[in-house]
Amino acid sequence: MKILLLGPQGSGKGTQAKRIAEEYGLAHVSTGDMLRAEAASESDLGRRVGEIMSRGDLVPDDLMVDIIRNRLDRDDARDGFILDGFPRTDAQAEALEAMLAETGRDLDVVFELQVGDETSVERMRGRAQTEGRADDTEEAMRRRLELYHRETAPLSQRYLARGILVGIHGERTVDEVFAEIQRTLDELESRSVA
Ligand code: AMP
Repeated sequence: MKILLLGPQGSGKGTQAKRIAEEYGLAHVSTGDMLRAEAASESDLGRRVGEIMSRGDLVPDDLMVDIIRNRLDRDDARDGFILDGFPRTDAQAEALEAMLAETGRDLDVVFELQVGDETSVERMRGRAQTEGRADDTEEAMRRRLELYHRETAPLSQRYLARGILVGIHGERTVDEVFAEIQRTLDELESRSVA
């Protein structure tokens, strides 16, 4: 199964992606985690990426597309993956479609975790206290949300038009959200077996 998760910061995307990956044996591809690892390595690239991230800005599309291309080429992602944090722009979405098409693959379903801005900000602030990420300053949090609305949220239209978008009400417990995702995935699995 090839799954994409869309949703603003604090929508529970990362948490749900991890659970889906475990439950269904899929590769969890989190660009945020990959970039944080690169930043921690203190390579030249890591330093550049770290600066961009701490402002809450987006890392350039061409770099992101290279990172994803390499990741999706690895064996563990051949048959199934869950994308968490990519694509975030039109250009990334186009590139993803093209690279999947090259290998005869396509997305099966796109979940959009829907939460309001207030919940999103509240959850980001909560996480800032426990995790203390470099991009958890008020200014970066505002910037991340602004970019989500401007660049990423419109991507849902593309998947809606293709009939693979499933909206999920995200202002509920982790278990409730996961149960709803599971219902959709189990239905998809039974359809593909039938
Ligand atoms: P996340 O953990 O998904 O919230 O990502 C943390 C930060 O990494 C973002 O605020 C961006 O600076 C950067 N980032 C992650 N994924 C992408 C992407 N697909 N395109 C551009 N920047 C990204």
